[in-house]
Amino acid sequence: MNDSLDDRIARLHEEAPLVDVHVHPSLKAYLFRRNLWRHYWSGKTFDPFSSRSDFTVLEKGGVGVIWSALYLPERGLFEDCFALNAAAFLLVPVYRKLTSGSLFQRLLEMMDAMEREVRRRPERVELARSAADVVRIREAGKLAVVHTIEGAHVLEGDPDNLDVLARRGVAMLTLCHFYPNGVAAHVDAIPKDMFVRDLCHFRLGAFGSPPLTDFGRAVLAKMMTLPMIVDVTHCTPEAREAIYAEIDAERPIMASHVGVTRYNPDPYNLSDEEIREIARTGGVVGVILMNYWLDAARPRHGLPSVWKTIEHIHDVTGSWDHIALGSDFDGFTDPPDDVRDASQLGRFTAMLLERGVAEGDVKRILGGNAQRVLQAGWR
Ligand SMILES: [Zn+2]
Repeated sequence: MNDSLDDRIARLHEEAPLVDVHVHPSLKAYLFRRNLWRHYWSGKTFDPFSSRSDFTVLEKGGVGVIWSALYLPERGLFEDCFALNAAAFLLVPVYRKLTSGSLFQRLLEMMDAMEREVRRRPERVELARSAADVVRIREAGKLAVVHTIEGAHVLEGDPDNLDVLARRGVAMLTLCHFYPNGVAAHVDAIPKDMFVRDLCHFRLGAFGSPPLTDFGRAVLAKMMTLPMIVDVTHCTPEAREAIYAEIDAERPIMASHVGVTRYNPDPYNLSDEEIREIARTGGVVGVILMNYWLDAARPRHGLPSVWKTIEHIHDVTGSWDHIALGSDFDGFTDPPDDVRDASQLGRFTAMLLERGVAEGDVKRILGGNAQRVLQAGWR
C-alpha cells in the first residue's frame, strides 16, 4: 500500500463509513437556533456555546453517519440550579419552552429543528429512516443522520409515545439520563469536576428508585414490538442487569457513550461481564471521547485512553466486533485536548492504524459494527 496516511484515512472513512453513535448537534440547533452549516468555535475546555459537531466539522472529519442524539434537558436541572436557570433565561431563546409545557412536544420541536438543518443542504446530508437508507445515502456521497433519543423522561409516562417516535424514524432510545424518570434507575453522570457542580445543588441521586419499574418494563416490551434499539448508557449497573433480562435474544444492545470500569471504576462504566453480555447480543460499546469517564487519572490527552479502552473491549470479547465511537460531542462535555471536535476524528483512525489494527478491523470499529446493529435492531 503506497498511499499516505491521510489518503488511507480518507479511504477508510469512505469505505467504512465513519459512524459516530452518540453526538449532539441537535442541542445547538434547538437551544441556540444555530445554523449547523456554520462553525462557531471548538474552544479548549468545556464550553456550552462551542460547536464540535456542526455539519462543517463533521464533513471535515470525514464522518459518514451520525446517530444524532435528541436530548431535552430535564426540568430538574433548572429547578436545582439558580445559576444555570439564570444563564439559560438570558442566553437560550427557547428558555420558556424548556421550562414549561409538554416535554414530548419539546422533543418533537428539537427533532424538527434538526430536520430543518438537514434540509438546508439536501445535496450533502439526508435523514435516514432505516438501515438500508443509511447505505443508500452513503452511496450518494452524503452524510446520513439517524435520529436517536437520550432520556426516556420525554415519554412522560406514555409508552404509546414510542409509536410516534418510531414513525418519525427514531432508531434508538437511551433509557436513562440525569434524573429519576420512572423507567429505570440512573447513575450520577454530571462530572464531579465540572464547574456547575460548585454553583448548583443538583439532586442527582436515584432516590431509592427500583432498578427497573413496571413502566420501564412496559417501555421495553413496547420497544420489542418496534424497530428501536435499547441503549443502557446512564442506567445503574443493577438497572442494566434488569434491562438485559427483558430484551429479546435477537436484539442487539447498545451502550452508546461509555468507558470501562477497568480504567475508571465508576458505575457509569461497563464491567468486563457486561461487555461480554452486550457482545453476546451482537451489540456494541460506543467509546466516549471524554477523559473523565475513560480514565480515573484524567489526563488531558485522550487518544491513549481511548486506545486502552478499545484494546480492553477487544481483549474481553476476543474480537473487534463490539466497538464503536460515541463521541458525545456537543453534549456539554469536555472532550480530550487531542480530539477537540469532529474535524479531528482522522486522529482516531490514525491511532487505530498506528496501533497495528488491520484495515478490515479498523473498518468494523469505524462503522461496520454500528451498521450491523442498525440492520439487526432498526428494521
Ligand atoms: Zn449522555
